[in-house]
Amino acid sequence: MRQIPVIENVLSANDAIALENRERFDRAGVVVVNLMASPGAGKTSLVLRTIEALRPLRVGVVEGDVASRVDADRVAGAGVPVVQINTGGGCHLDAPMLRAAIQELPLAQLDLLLVENVGNLICPAAFRLGEHLQVVIASLPEGDDKPLKYPALFAQADAVVVNKIDLAPHLDFDRQAFRRLVTGLNPRAALFELSCRTGEGLSDWAAWLRRFLNRGTGGVGHVE
Ligand code: MG
Ligand code: ZN
Repeated sequence: MRQIPVIENVLSANDAIALENRERFDRAGVVVVNLMASPGAGKTSLVLRTIEALRPLRVGVVEGDVASRVDADRVAGAGVPVVQINTGGGCHLDAPMLRAAIQELPLAQLDLLLVENVGNLICPAAFRLGEHLQVVIASLPEGDDKPLKYPALFAQADAVVVNKIDLAPHLDFDRQAFRRLVTGLNPRAALFELSCRTGEGLSDWAAWLRRFLNRGTGGVGHVE
């Protein structure tokens, strides 16, 4: 009986800091996207493709990983500001971690901040960071039943990206079935099928993101 209030307190402390982060983002006029996926779905590849597709808009990146700075080094190669958060074993980012990371970024100079969460489809769903948009990335090799197994994250996402569609001829992934599962959980989610390897489908994704940018500083209109 005692655990429940403790858990609620932890979450609300996180949410209070998430709200402060959000206010900072709005003051700086930067739109923040929380990218969540299993390990290997292509989060970093999507970050790199998005930076490229949105040029000359100014993108910054926060890389969340359990350890290492391999992904941050890849992103830094694209010439954008990047900060690595190592969670030291933790399986999700939280709002205090993001608050610390953004001290290192020129927020007011950015149009978009991409936050790559730790590879995990479970607890990132429970920790708001102050982001404007939540995006889940799935990929064909993972199978078409991911929304069934991890419904919370799919139900709250603003967009679902299906990566690696270039592998479709080699896999049994049922794209219609996947789409039906996502729509059943979350009819308002935008759904994009793309390949970070070939570039197919990336322009629709970039166009969707662009709709939330270009609103002028402080004018981030969207989301809750
Ligand atoms: Mg990565
Ligand atoms: Zn976790």
